[in-house]
Amino acid sequence: MVSAADTPHYDAVVIGAGITGMYQAYALRNIGLSVKGYEAGGDVGGTWYWNRYPGCRLDTESYAYGYFELKGIIPDWKWSERFAGQPELLRYARHAADKMNVRSLYQFNTKVAAAQYDDRQKIWRVTLDDNSQVTCQFLLSAVGPLSATRMPDIPGLETFAGQSFHSSRWPHGSDEGPSNTDFAGKRVAIIGTGATGVQIIPVVARTAKRFHVLQRTPNWCTPLGNHPLDPESVRQLRGDIDEFLAFLKRTETAFPYERSPKKADEATAQERQELFESLYDMPGYGIWLSGYRDLLTNRTSNSYLSTFVANKIRERVKDPAVAEKLIPKNHAFGTRRVPMETNYYEVYNQDNVELIDISEQPIREITPQGIRVGDRLIELDTIIYATGFNAVTGALDRIDIRGRSGLALKDAWAEGPATYLGIQSAGFPNFFTLVGAHNGAAFCNIGVCGALQVEWVTAMIQYMRANGLTSSEPLPGYQDHWTAQVYKIYSKTLLAESDAWWVKSTRNPDGTVTRRALIYVGSAADYRAQCDLVAENGYEGFELR
Ligand SMILES: Cc1cc2nc3c(=O)[nH]c(=O)nc-3n(C[C@H](O)[C@H](O)[C@H](O)COP(=O)(O)OP(=O)(O)OC[C@H]3O[C@@H](n4cnc5c(N)ncnc54)[C@H](O)[C@@H]3O)c2cc1C
Repeated sequence: MVSAADTPHYDAVVIGAGITGMYQAYALRNIGLSVKGYEAGGDVGGTWYWNRYPGCRLDTESYAYGYFELKGIIPDWKWSERFAGQPELLRYARHAADKMNVRSLYQFNTKVAAAQYDDRQKIWRVTLDDNSQVTCQFLLSAVGPLSATRMPDIPGLETFAGQSFHSSRWPHGSDEGPSNTDFAGKRVAIIGTGATGVQIIPVVARTAKRFHVLQRTPNWCTPLGNHPLDPESVRQLRGDIDEFLAFLKRTETAFPYERSPKKADEATAQERQELFESLYDMPGYGIWLSGYRDLLTNRTSNSYLSTFVANKIRERVKDPAVAEKLIPKNHAFGTRRVPMETNYYEVYNQDNVELIDISEQPIREITPQGIRVGDRLIELDTIIYATGFNAVTGALDRIDIRGRSGLALKDAWAEGPATYLGIQSAGFPNFFTLVGAHNGAAFCNIGVCGALQVEWVTAMIQYMRANGLTSSEPLPGYQDHWTAQVYKIYSKTLLAESDAWWVKSTRNPDGTVTRRALIYVGSAADYRAQCDLVAENGYEGFELR
């Protein structure tokens, strides 16, 4: 027990004020804990605070994303589009923060630099970037699966004389959105054609004088189908809010889609074609998350859809050589994140746009004038880095987290994360990783799955308090079993064949590469059922003291 002299400053410290962190801070305060939050950004919103690039928007249906249990907040928010844009999402996050009254719990513009578990006093010592320290009993990470910006390692990058920025550090406008959305007269390059690049490219292509798209790996992109919404259409699409949440919770990823019970080979070629056409025309992720149930487990089933989408690209891009460059050859449909697009492929029919395949001709250097690709110097005014994130574990890796006996989390996870339910790791008592590695909230509609995880963790802490328990840590056997299960489930899917952002690749001394999944793909519904069972059994697998 903590003696009076060692009483921590706070019962709980929450790192991050994205939609997950601020809900966690709210929930813990509601059960009577003293809570302090730290956020590197200047306000709440996380992803929607940082990513202000033009074109940034949800690819989850707006009305399926957000705080369902906060019925005082969700029903009175009138989503203006089927897939809300970043400014609206930031407004939503700010509105939610006001309703939950959590801003006062947070210190903004403050990074957590280190956290060390004090084994003797059973508290966490949290060090901030101004070197000040606070202590707490529970440490909750809500640092985000996609928040640690990744810049490419290109010689001369810092010498560029024009304007350059990473997509998640796009200059902020005066309101919620971006500045710099007009590229008239400018020579612009973008590096990266993942989900973010695919959202930015059509916007920049509208005004740029010359626009060079530097692509290493093409992705399978399918139409977003965004459109305005009014309250009546939301009512029709969503129906009763409680029933809708119950439906989302039954699905694999908490998106409003269910897979067909059919396998692809149980349908005729014509039936498959008709289904794929209707899914391609439908707004959102239906083409990835509904359709035949063996899409991600059977190569033949997958090849039907991959061929269908490849043909769509060939139809939409006039130059056959450019179309071939845009068709992925190294991964099957849906085994990496499927970017949702709006007029993306048509951009390559414009005279001001050039696609450059940097897997054929690598970037050699960046100079003050521009980017040298092979022997060619492309002169530029602006470079946009759409190079993504050190996903899932990246933001935690940037904090020096040390558990019992000074064990560094980075070292404990050197070979890949080791967790129980993706929520806690042995050796790190009272440290909880929300939407973290190996938990079922990351490969999911995070707006829903993150909140459900907050509710589960809050119930666990409430249980501990009610039973006079002060410390929680996974039992090693349960942790080993969970970690093995995460890898086993992943290895049975086609996802295991691609290098998506949810895979950690480590180069071994003998030159081989070990690839480890950072996420649990065994269905969000199944994940929560396992969590619920653990809770019903008195938090079986956690050593509670
Ligand atoms: C462009 C983009 C589009 C996306 N679209 C979707 C979508 O359509 N559907 C979906 O479900 N998900 C989407 N996501 C994932 C998105 O991240 C989640 O939906 C959700 O916003 C995550 O919320 P979070 O609070 O868990 O993390 P975040 O929103 O990432 O918030 C984490 C916060 O922690 C802070 N932080 C990190 N480290 C520290 C530190 N050391 N000290 C202090 N603060 C720290 C960060 O500054 C950040 O504000 C998208 C992500 C991106 C980048």
